[in-house]
Amino acid sequence: MPREVKALFRDDAYLSTAEGTVSAVNDRGGIILDQTCFYATSGGQPGDTGFLERADGSKIAISATVCGENKDEIIHVPSNNQPPPSVGEKLVTHIDWDRRYKLMRMHTACHLLTVVCPYPITGASVGEEESRVDFDIPEMDGDKASVSAALMNLVSANHPVSTKWITEEELAANPALIKSKNVRPPSGAGRIRLVCIGDAASVDSQPCGGTHVTETQEVGDIHIGKIEKKGRENRRFRIRFGPLPAN
Ligand SMILES: [Zn+2]
Repeated sequence: MPREVKALFRDDAYLSTAEGTVSAVNDRGGIILDQTCFYATSGGQPGDTGFLERADGSKIAISATVCGENKDEIIHVPSNNQPPPSVGEKLVTHIDWDRRYKLMRMHTACHLLTVVCPYPITGASVGEEESRVDFDIPEMDGDKASVSAALMNLVSANHPVSTKWITEEELAANPALIKSKNVRPPSGAGRIRLVCIGDAASVDSQPCGGTHVTETQEVGDIHIGKIEKKGRENRRFRIRFGPLPAN
């Protein structure tokens, strides 16, 4: 039976710690809580790492967070040889905030790249040091320098980043919101989470369940490290932190 978990990061991506109660420990040792600030791997963003603190102050190290049978189930995967908690035990969850904050900045940068490159997305992966977004672009103008400059314009403009929920019917009436060529947002849940950039979503809005910063300036310095051709029509953009290195 999948258990629904209150996903605290959806309303507050800046929550690095929270209280939770163990609702189950699965047959592989995965720990399920009634609520958590740990993000589970999905949508190209890796799940959180960190630790669960027990009442006596001891720690259960968490090396990964994954979804269960459905996306509403969040499973904290302990590192090797961690003591299992008991069902009903109260724990304090602590995510590795430095890592998560980099992922939030990078994930937001990926959204900005889809504004600069308004082409169908064929794949994406968010990383701490580097992220990549693949687009279906038969011909393109622009290079690392011009795309990096356009990205930094959006960062410096300090656009607000917010979320709002819409119905499946609203999404169906606005198919242009979906930028992904192959992946469709999950349907059946009745509601879709939109991530909006700019006042009244003037810069961008697209369905996304990940974690983002709340102002584009927080992304900080980023640049395009590489643009690779993948196949006849696909181009892979690698986003890295820091200013564009001078050649
Ligand atoms: Zn996102």
